[in-house]
Amino acid sequence: NTLFAGETFAVLGLGRNGAAVTAALLAMGAQVQAWDDKNPTLPPQAGLKVAPFRSLEGMTALILSPGIPHKLPAPHPVAQLAQAAGIPILSDADLLFQAVRRAKSQARFAAVTGTNGKSTTTALLAHILTEAGRPCAAGGNLGTASLALPLLGDDGVYVIEMSSYMLERLEHFHASTACLLNLTPDHLDRHGDMAGYASAKAHVFDRMTSQDLAVIGQDDPYCRTIADTVEQSGINLTRLAPESLPPFSAPALPGRHNQQNIATAWAMARHLGLNDEEIRAGLATFPGLAHRLQAVKTVHGVTFVNDSKATNAEATSKALDAYPKVIWIAGGQAKSGGISSLAPWLNRVSHAVLIGQDAPLLAQTLDENSIPYTVSHTLDRAVMDAYDIAQKHAVPVVLLSPACASFDQFRSFEDRGTQFEGACTALAERLSTTP
Ligand code: ADP
Repeated sequence: NTLFAGETFAVLGLGRNGAAVTAALLAMGAQVQAWDDKNPTLPPQAGLKVAPFRSLEGMTALILSPGIPHKLPAPHPVAQLAQAAGIPILSDADLLFQAVRRAKSQARFAAVTGTNGKSTTTALLAHILTEAGRPCAAGGNLGTASLALPLLGDDGVYVIEMSSYMLERLEHFHASTACLLNLTPDHLDRHGDMAGYASAKAHVFDRMTSQDLAVIGQDDPYCRTIADTVEQSGINLTRLAPESLPPFSAPALPGRHNQQNIATAWAMARHLGLNDEEIRAGLATFPGLAHRLQAVKTVHGVTFVNDSKATNAEATSKALDAYPKVIWIAGGQAKSGGISSLAPWLNRVSHAVLIGQDAPLLAQTLDENSIPYTVSHTLDRAVMDAYDIAQKHAVPVVLLSPACASFDQFRSFEDRGTQFEGACTALAERLSTTP
């Protein structure tokens, strides 16, 4: 199409997001000058110039990769060029919004933000809409770059996961419904302090009106304050108090933290015109997200759960909270404080199985709390040991929720989760062929 014909954009940062945005802009008829300080490579294409920036005069906007700062700790020199030339710095979600409106589509936007639960809530809402037969496209911070999503017609819904960096770079984007799940200290390096981080997140509600619905979790004081402001500005508001979450459940989303994600997706889906029946049907068939409390295999009554995404104790506390009794596989590179903050949840652990370099540190906390453990070192060994212990003590769940980074033994938490799944499959195959 030609939605951006005659305009020139600057794209800085050619990772996955920058490359996808460049391709999408070219496909919409724009000229693009792109650059990456470290790896400035893109296949040559009509309309594309790969060159460092000297000036941004005459360009429509600068699109910065999410990782590149335009404020703290110091704005990137190209961001300064944009500011000097009076060129807006935009997130590609803003360009998607503009493209959709230029295409004369009234498709609506649902925006999801917060410190934790964004991906789950985004995927869940998109699944519910799709199952109900609504044209829907989901992406943003995780998954497909916003601008690479297909153009939808008037009845379509975009579900966009938004990081705080994206939210600071919007000028047109208008959500029909937006949620802020929670706010806990995170990324403070980039926002200066908690107030800066909270005010970045609050931009998700910009340009919303009394026709629109904001959904705001009420677990923390920052979200409560933002809810007051949203309410005063006349936007329709649903506050989700932790104790008043609706009793809907989804088999693939265990645990109290997921109740918040479910309640949020439910409220947003209602606003987008779905009824309870349709929403319940979507919840029932939601397959869950990989590496987040994902049940990967059941072997002779023992279910193996992959929560490899839990790279710190805070995330693991949610996992332990979701089950009454588990055999717990943990370890790797511990974060500061180790697992001492998990003491209130260790009564859920029937036996721990430790892997990775910081097993001794974890063992110390387990000793202090009189929790029995086995040091298995490797994940393959841990899966076998955990299975034997689960059978011996009749515990139905083996939970991999490491509370540690993965880099001592794996490439990433995804790699760790995938290897866990492989080890579970191998175990199941061995047991089914053993006479
Ligand atoms: P994000 O995309 O914001 O990182 P995810 O949906 O990928 O969030 O969930 C990441 C982790 O955050 C989960 O494994 C869980 O430990 C925790 N989490 C998920 N939802 C919530 C929530 N609503 N409140 C608190 N913690 C949550």
